[in-house]
Amino acid sequence: MDQETRSRIMRAVRKKDTKPELIVRRLLHAMGYRFRLHRRDLPGTPDIVLPRHKVAIQVHGCFWHQHPGCRHANLPRSRTAYWLPKLARNVERDAQSEEALLALGWRVLVLWECELRDVDALRERLTAFLLGRQEIA
Ligand SMILES: [Zn+2]
Repeated sequence: MDQETRSRIMRAVRKKDTKPELIVRRLLHAMGYRFRLHRRDLPGTPDIVLPRHKVAIQVHGCFWHQHPGCRHANLPRSRTAYWLPKLARNVERDAQSEEALLALGWRVLVLWECELRDVDALRERLTAFLLGRQEIA
């Protein structure tokens, strides 16, 4: 696969309907929750929004959004000058969006890609958050 093809795929994958997001959507749907996707009128265009609960869910890829302490967030050894500022921008943008959402009275749940494999744990977490129990970081 050449460089151009690879970046095209990476961009496409990154944008919308990424698999991790689908896992969360399917689960929420099965749990009977109603939600909206990619609300552009909200800061950071949250991946999933539950208007009735005023909850925004961001499903973050560990690499793109630099999951702290996660091995999937390791930086590539080459082209660091390219990756570092790019990923730093993502992290900064995430923080700003979250702050803006909170300021508007939304509650924000960040789910990391690597946390989605255990569906039971994920279901419990979603239930707890949607019922208004605080997340313990
Ligand atoms: Zn991770």
